[in-house]
Amino acid sequence: MTDAEKKELKEIIDNQIHSTKEEIEELKELTKPITLDNSIGRLSRMDAINNKAINEKALRDKKRTLQKLERATERSEKGELGTCLRCGNEIPFGRLKIMPWTTRCVKCA
Ligand SMILES: [Zn+2]
Repeated sequence: MTDAEKKELKEIIDNQIHSTKEEIEELKELTKPITLDNSIGRLSRMDAINNKAINEKALRDKKRTLQKLERATERSEKGELGTCLRCGNEIPFGRLKIMPWTTRCVKCA
């Protein structure tokens, strides 16, 4: 990886951390406890419960993505980002751009 590519990748990671944090905040709002308010009917309450389950899953996924991105930041600070943890080969930049948290090359993934 060239220095310019490293810089570009760092920016991609920073942007993704930022947007993931925003999405987590939104999902936290959407997964607040449902009030047992009688003003919404039984069916819409069931909808609300279903949506809440979907949003809770999305929230868990986003939190996992954020952890991966934060680990990628640590690796980039140590200069380890872009090296396959299994075979030690360089991970193609195109792959890193799509999945900056990846720790394996295409062959080892
Ligand atoms: Zn590999």
